[in-house]
Amino acid sequence: MKYVSTRGQAPELSFEDAMLTGLARDGGLYVPAEIPVLSADDIRALNGLSYEDTAFRIMWPFLGGTFTEDEFRGCIARAYEGFGHAARAPLVQLEPNHFLLELFHGPTLAFKDFAMQLIGQLFQTALAKNGRRVTIVGATSGDTGSAAIEAFRGLDNVDVFILYPHGRVSEVQRRQMTTPADSNVHAIALDGDFDACQARVKDMFNDFEFRDEVGLAGVNSINWARVLTQVVYYFTSAVSLGAPDRRVSFTVPTGNFGDIFAGYIARKMGLPIDKLVVATNQNDILHRCLTTGEYRPDGVVPSISPSMDIQVSSNFERVIFDALDRDGSAVAQLMDELKAGGFTLPQGALSHLQELFTSGRCSEDETRATIAEMKTLTTELLCPHSAVAVKVAREVRDPAVPMVSLATAHPAKFPDAVEEASHIRPGLPPRMADLFERDERVTRLADDLAAIEYLIREKRSA
Ligand SMILES: *Cc1c(COP(=O)(O)O)cnc(C)c1O
Repeated sequence: MKYVSTRGQAPELSFEDAMLTGLARDGGLYVPAEIPVLSADDIRALNGLSYEDTAFRIMWPFLGGTFTEDEFRGCIARAYEGFGHAARAPLVQLEPNHFLLELFHGPTLAFKDFAMQLIGQLFQTALAKNGRRVTIVGATSGDTGSAAIEAFRGLDNVDVFILYPHGRVSEVQRRQMTTPADSNVHAIALDGDFDACQARVKDMFNDFEFRDEVGLAGVNSINWARVLTQVVYYFTSAVSLGAPDRRVSFTVPTGNFGDIFAGYIARKMGLPIDKLVVATNQNDILHRCLTTGEYRPDGVVPSISPSMDIQVSSNFERVIFDALDRDGSAVAQLMDELKAGGFTLPQGALSHLQELFTSGRCSEDETRATIAEMKTLTTELLCPHSAVAVKVAREVRDPAVPMVSLATAHPAKFPDAVEEASHIRPGLPPRMADLFERDERVTRLADDLAAIEYLIREKRSA
């Protein structure tokens, strides 16, 4: 299995190199050269398997010999053993034919643990095999950073630096990043928004001298291995609802387009997904783009679902690549236009995307109202991101087709917003009860590439 860049100018890579590299050298994102397809019988055979066994069968064809079967099974087992639920991704029912996929039972209480815990194991296994070290740099709107720090803390061959927007993450998110005491993890509070954090990470990857000097590796949602791990729960949930003999729809609270892109891959692999719904908060650039074809960032407005406060949605480039018939130079041209302010999708590409995706938007008031209403109707306490999905799902769903809304974080990660909406203050699970007493360690920096690179050179344990 080979991986190609969405901009067509970077070398093809193996799974291992695409995983360790993250962003391609031409500024593009790696995607598989082709997608393996499962037959209906292959999918039927997933019925009744554990999450781990399903994960093995779904991901194995993408690995192309990077790991042995035993190594890969071991990585999967270690990745998910710390989850607080035996099903890993349990499905609960909200109302007739509408289900909630709970993806928040990992160590940092958000769905990003699914990818990050496994990537930590895969990095460790790959690096230990060939005696390499890497410096992981990531940008986060809150959940990626805590998940990365939790997954990589204490690993021998890795230093981790996470940039988050100062003052724009919740206290739980911040403390999950600033309280681990391991000397190989570093939180950086940047004076800027999430898009600025993401832009500085891209700048570091494009500074090839720095990139090679520190052995830069990325684990942001652009990392193909992360996307791949997220394909698994589309299969486990759809199969438990009757796939492949029944079509299933999904609604995904979307920011960087990584999670929903995994659903798109699941469908390409043969999972009969009916509607794939992009749900955005008031930062609705993806909804507007899928409606009009215009992609024009106009500044992030902070919301109560901060992990979706995004205007430049990096994984969107991957579906644009497909919608443009995998023409890397056409993608590169749109991305150049984006740097100059924005782009308009060609009509053919827009129509194609509109066949693949449905979209909707949820305002702040609607988010709070949905949290309150679902608490009354179902006893389920939703986090604001999950509420965005549930609201949009209820708007667009076909009552005859099972709809799965993805619950991407535990309500206790956003206690203030949830309490305001529902008058209930969600408590942290017992394993995290002392989070507010632990010491914090963080460096605050200006939005300045040179200052960030200086800090990384100084602090990494070369
Ligand atoms: C990251 C995140 C999202 C958005 O996921 P993307 O893959 O970036 O689209 C939604 N909800 C929560 C809680 C998140 O942490």
